[in-house]
Amino acid sequence: MPSAYEQLLAATIAHVDDLKRGGVKYLPVDSESLAELNRPAARKAPIDPSSHTKAVAPAESAKSNALERPLARAVSSEGPVLTELIVDASVALSPEEKDAEMARIRERALACVKCPHLAKSRRNVVFGVGTIHTELMFVGEAPGMDEDQQGEPFVGKAGQLLTKIIQTMGLDRDKVYIANVLKCRPDTPGQRTGNRKPTLDEMNTCKPYLLAQISVIRPKVIVALGATAVEGLLGKTYGIMKLRGNWQDFNGVPLMPTYHPAYLLRNQSLTEKRKVWEDMLAIMEKLQMSINDKQRGYFLPK
Ligand code: SF4
Repeated sequence: MPSAYEQLLAATIAHVDDLKRGGVKYLPVDSESLAELNRPAARKAPIDPSSHTKAVAPAESAKSNALERPLARAVSSEGPVLTELIVDASVALSPEEKDAEMARIRERALACVKCPHLAKSRRNVVFGVGTIHTELMFVGEAPGMDEDQQGEPFVGKAGQLLTKIIQTMGLDRDKVYIANVLKCRPDTPGQRTGNRKPTLDEMNTCKPYLLAQISVIRPKVIVALGATAVEGLLGKTYGIMKLRGNWQDFNGVPLMPTYHPAYLLRNQSLTEKRKVWEDMLAIMEKLQMSINDKQRGYFLPK
């Protein structure tokens, strides 16, 4: 006979499943509930002092078994740490395991309150969009106001331009994966509009989620959109003008830094558009995509 708690949990899961089937993607949750959800479960199992990998809290253990995670997961004495979300590159993942891993990471991010000021001000955690079964991943800096409202990265004007660029490459937005280094919109206290650049501290706090996403997707190419994304990913601050167009290495994955689409909206010159397009051509070559003459000639002076 299930306990009252188990019955309530089953009813809650059924209700959330119904909402999901009805097309609801995100649920508003107040910051107190988020803090509670993010609290590590009470530890009942004793910790084996001889073992480097500590005993896993029962709730975590049950979750792990349910998803049959193909890894041993290290857990700190304070409870699960974010780095445990990162999948070991030597472990092969089936498409189903990738889906399960990404769902786990998403679940953690949606309940995250590691930056209390951002958890308080955000409307949505903007986790990522597209397919995780892709070779190409775009990474921006942080959600802006539109993204915060819609819970999806790159949906404002700059996002629409990024979508056009992806389509011009012969792909679709749902054939690639798009995420940001920071998953919550940087707050702008006292301002009703406008966005601010995320700080390095904020990006570093959030970066394990991105690393975990990359560890599951295993893209063949990462595109860093703009100077702040490059700084968040590579820690390099010496200028997107110098870096763009030059392949970098991100933990063994080729990374192409290029301008943020918002820059192209501010600077409409053919020369700047061509530079970004050349970066896309280089990416297409790296991914061995077919490139036609029309694509090769975009934004060249007539
Ligand atoms: S920005 Fe990242 S680390 Fe900070 S609260 Fe949001 S999800 Fe958590």
